[in-house]
Amino acid sequence: AEAVGGGDKEAVRAYFNSTGFERWRRIYDPATDDVNRVQLDIREGHAQTVAATLAMLRDAPDVPLSGATVCDAGCGTGSLSIPLASSGASVLASDISAAMVSEAQRQAQAAAASSSPEFRMPRFEVRDLESLEGRYDIVVCLDVLIHYPREEAQKMIRHLASLAEKRLVISFAPKTLYFDVLKRVGELFPGPSKATRAYLHSEKDIEEALRAAGWRVKNKGFISTQFYFAKLYEAVPVAGGSS
Ligand code: SAM
Repeated sequence: AEAVGGGDKEAVRAYFNSTGFERWRRIYDPATDDVNRVQLDIREGHAQTVAATLAMLRDAPDVPLSGATVCDAGCGTGSLSIPLASSGASVLASDISAAMVSEAQRQAQAAAASSSPEFRMPRFEVRDLESLEGRYDIVVCLDVLIHYPREEAQKMIRHLASLAEKRLVISFAPKTLYFDVLKRVGELFPGPSKATRAYLHSEKDIEEALRAAGWRVKNKGFISTQFYFAKLYEAVPVAGGSS
């Protein structure tokens, strides 16, 4: 039997406050050598997702990053929040894991010293995606939907869309036959650090959820390395969207 809903969420929270925190902190920190080959590959893939997200957001003439309000939902160690803050965006960086949020804060403080004069210290909050509220020019949620089963992911996309005025950028691990098989194989041979379930999503499901929320995909990206796969969607509201 698989854990879903609240049970799954508590497992995810506990994981990202303990072994998962240590594992992902090392993966995401380019200054850390203490990673194996697979983790290094995942670091490179994830860095490409962050870079592609920044490129999408810097390319949006209707939403200049400087002065924009951004909600980075599930911010992790701040890989995206910090460069956004350096571009002058006013960022809410939140995560379900207190350990992640304090690491993001630490990294932001270190970055602030050497960053551009435009740098605005993000607001850091420990909270889950469900409890996010307010309105933001841009809502970003990278590599978090892997923790949400199909229907909960669709519901979460509608929730995130309700917080966004102009852009919603999300990444997810695509559910194709090939990746599904890979994942099954992974479940047969779980590594010691694979403490939580991983949910892949079909493009159709994600697009449907966006459509139901009144949004459409404006730009798509696909990032893949040997061990890291992500679809990246930039979405805009259907009505009142500027392009
Ligand atoms: N978005 C960051 C990035 O791309 O660098 C972090 C990605 S990391 C793989 C997934 C993050 O999602 C973890 O920091 C985890 O604590 C967070 N997370 C998982 N479930 C969450 C939830 N329900 N609410 C908020 N954050 C959550």
